[in-house]
Amino acid sequence: MTHMHIAGSIHADAAQGGPTWLQVPEDLNELDLKLWPRGARRDEQGRIVVAGATLPEVAEEHGTPVYVIDEGDFRSRAREFKESFPGWEIYYAGKALLTRTVARWAAEEGLNLDVTTMGEMRIALAGGMPAARLGFHGNNKSEEEIAFALEQGVGRIIVDSFDEIARLERACADGGHRANVLVRVTTGVEAHTHEYIATAHEDQKFGLSIMGGQALTALVRCHSSQYLDLRGIHSHIGSQIFETLGFEVAIRRTMKLASQFRTATGVELPELDLGGGFGIAYTGVDTPQPTSTLAAAFEEMVDHECRAFGLARPHLSIEPGRAICGPSGVAVYRVGTVKTVELEGGRSRVYISVDGGMSDNIRPALYAAEYSAALANRTSDAEPVLSRVVGKHCEGGDILIRDVFLPADVTIGDLIAVPGSGAYARSMASNYNQIPKPPVVSARDGVTSVMLRRETLDDLMRLDVGQ
Ligand SMILES: *Cc1c(COP(=O)(O)O)cnc(C)c1O
Repeated sequence: MTHMHIAGSIHADAAQGGPTWLQVPEDLNELDLKLWPRGARRDEQGRIVVAGATLPEVAEEHGTPVYVIDEGDFRSRAREFKESFPGWEIYYAGKALLTRTVARWAAEEGLNLDVTTMGEMRIALAGGMPAARLGFHGNNKSEEEIAFALEQGVGRIIVDSFDEIARLERACADGGHRANVLVRVTTGVEAHTHEYIATAHEDQKFGLSIMGGQALTALVRCHSSQYLDLRGIHSHIGSQIFETLGFEVAIRRTMKLASQFRTATGVELPELDLGGGFGIAYTGVDTPQPTSTLAAAFEEMVDHECRAFGLARPHLSIEPGRAICGPSGVAVYRVGTVKTVELEGGRSRVYISVDGGMSDNIRPALYAAEYSAALANRTSDAEPVLSRVVGKHCEGGDILIRDVFLPADVTIGDLIAVPGSGAYARSMASNYNQIPKPPVVSARDGVTSVMLRRETLDDLMRLDVGQ
């Protein structure tokens, strides 16, 4: 999600110097509830509490940075998808956040799970997700990964190229397996935050083009394969999407493709997967729809297109990742330095350096993603100052939050909590600058437990086996 930035920024009394979308909060101590795990609050001492766990205490026990995942929040969002989309399969997109515990939560809440690699398959299975409930994605699945998926009995494989179809057939022939497949197609819809852009041709690595004709060819190819059971079409149009318009176009084009397939073969495809990408609130201006509203819109769009093409309603699935685990997670950092940088025109900017950065959340550096933050260990009556929260890495672009209002008295040792950090933060983490990755801790009724432990310098040293 990307808002337009206006260069420059500033002190609270010149708040207009910040990006136009960023409002000066009326009360800096108040938590904007749509950004935080459900039930997050401040206690009498002003400390932020998530799932009954007091963040300064979590920081004390587990160190910083640390990701805290509210188990109840995760489960309630998973359940909301199950209940709002009755009869649909909900595949949780494991790449957003996957640990054995998370796989178990997803399994217990009746979700299926999407995986893309051997590593994700192994973690999902180890967490107790049955292989039959896995969907195997990816544009370059290896022979080893495919063989493993077939041996385990992975429920469906989403094929992404003709090379892969051939590879999968060889693996089936070698191992005496059959495979359920969906064909991933590109619909020409590229969804962005507040709009969609219909790309004339899908100049990207995923899927097979509907407009170019490869999608239909691939469907027919899979249909006629002696090893593959073709289940249907798969479409994933993007991420952090708030509008249903892009989905509407995608549904129309996939249904049209399904009707062309019927014309070519006389067969109706039994399944349709519409992917993920449902947006969440990272800042006060983001406005995700309730899951039930989303579901109603999807039902209507699907019914409409089924009627239009005279197709029976297929068995449907969606693949939310971020919308389930994103809001459940909070990252907690400790402030190390505070620096005021003088800018032109007598303006200045406050740089707050924390003990993590682009190694534990690459999204701001990767695609200018925005976040919010709050002082987690106390409240403050100081005036709001437009601040920039930065990491400790050797990159000027190591920015966690480009523009955020924080109290003017933020100081060394304070804790900064960043909501919306459950998705694509730990899962995209790196060891840049040889920083060990932070732990992921689950919280429930005030009790925390480590899902992923903190990496240690010993872990890093053990990898370095050279002389
Ligand atoms: C990433 C991805 C998802 C999940 O996207 P979110 O934005 O996290 O909901 C779903 N399906 C596919 C194929 C993906 O690549």
